[in-house]
Amino acid sequence: MSNIRDTYLPYGKQWIDDDDINEVVKVLKSNYLTTGPAVSEFEEAVANYVGSKYAVAFSNGTAALHGACFAAGISNGDEVITTPLTFAASANCVLYQGGVPVFADIDPHTYNIDPEVIERKITSKTKAIIPVDFTGQPVNLEKIKEIADKNNLVVIEDAAHALGATYKGEKVGSISDMTMFSFHPVKHITSGEGGIITTDNKEYRDKLVQFRSHGITRDADKLVENHGPWYYEMQFLGYNYRMTDIQAALGKSQLMKLDKFVELRKTMIEKYNDSFKELPQVKIPYQDANGSSSWHLYILRFDTSKLKADRKEIFEALQKQNIGVNVHYLPVHLLPYYKELGYEKGIAPVAEEVYTEIITLPLFPAMTDKDVQDVIKAVKQVIESHKKLV
Ligand SMILES: *Cc1c(COP(=O)(O)O)cnc(C)c1O
Repeated sequence: MSNIRDTYLPYGKQWIDDDDINEVVKVLKSNYLTTGPAVSEFEEAVANYVGSKYAVAFSNGTAALHGACFAAGISNGDEVITTPLTFAASANCVLYQGGVPVFADIDPHTYNIDPEVIERKITSKTKAIIPVDFTGQPVNLEKIKEIADKNNLVVIEDAAHALGATYKGEKVGSISDMTMFSFHPVKHITSGEGGIITTDNKEYRDKLVQFRSHGITRDADKLVENHGPWYYEMQFLGYNYRMTDIQAALGKSQLMKLDKFVELRKTMIEKYNDSFKELPQVKIPYQDANGSSSWHLYILRFDTSKLKADRKEIFEALQKQNIGVNVHYLPVHLLPYYKELGYEKGIAPVAEEVYTEIITLPLFPAMTDKDVQDVIKAVKQVIESHKKLV
């Protein structure tokens, strides 16, 4: 096979301009480095963007999910239903609170959690659902809300992939009880590390703010005693999960570019889809009629029954061409730590099978047309040289 690229193309990468750098430098020259005015401004900007009443920033998305589980009242033995096809953080946050993650299998077309399976997994111990908008494609929020309302469950939407996505015309982040976004550099916009919870619920908002700072409050309305102006109370065990002003300044500057980033992602997706949709050996990702996904990841499913190679061989052949491929994700219940907890293979057969056939292709807004064409060429070449002749 001829070499398509001399340089490595990563699967994801941040886009930082001089205006982002200037905003960070401004904070560095100011009086506040940690949680100060820039954090409040970023929270307000995100809330405005998604259309929620409140937003509470955290040091990272995982900490934000932990806060949401606390605010939802998850504690020892409570069951929380989530998807197996996600990053470990979507389930780890339940364990942090002493809860029990329950994995509901995915829909084979959307790869999102299947609402019918959610219903089957509900018990008297179920307290919440953590659906994940996998790759940026919103889950069936209407159906999930209906199930949650009927069973008195809190919905904590893991929208780490879905900033900028819409559901029936409304922005993701304005719909569920709480929604988490991550600002890790591979996500839509970055603050270095960072995360946020958006919500319309004042009680959740107040708990989240207190949780991210040791459980401490100085709010006169909340204090049980008051010894004087210096006085504060630690009212429950919280953490130091605060975002810095340095991160927030970067995040806010990046947010101005979010719509442009999503548009660029969509143009690349169209090129990928146009090039791959006729190939019988692969299945292009699900796309709903409204085009509501914000396209964090582009995942091709390889039909290995039509190929002389398994996923590993195809993955390695693409890697050899300097294409930064990836796999999202190893199903969480099959990770060694979860297996030790007693989760077994077979509890989510669809996710387990999908996992064996998926490869994530490079997708980030700064990709050039040549980058996209290189990926297309490499995929076509690898399929051509591994296809089964019928
Ligand atoms: C990135 C990610 C997280 C965690 O976010 P961090 O900011 O990296 O802690 C959680 N869930 C999903 C699905 C993610 O992709």
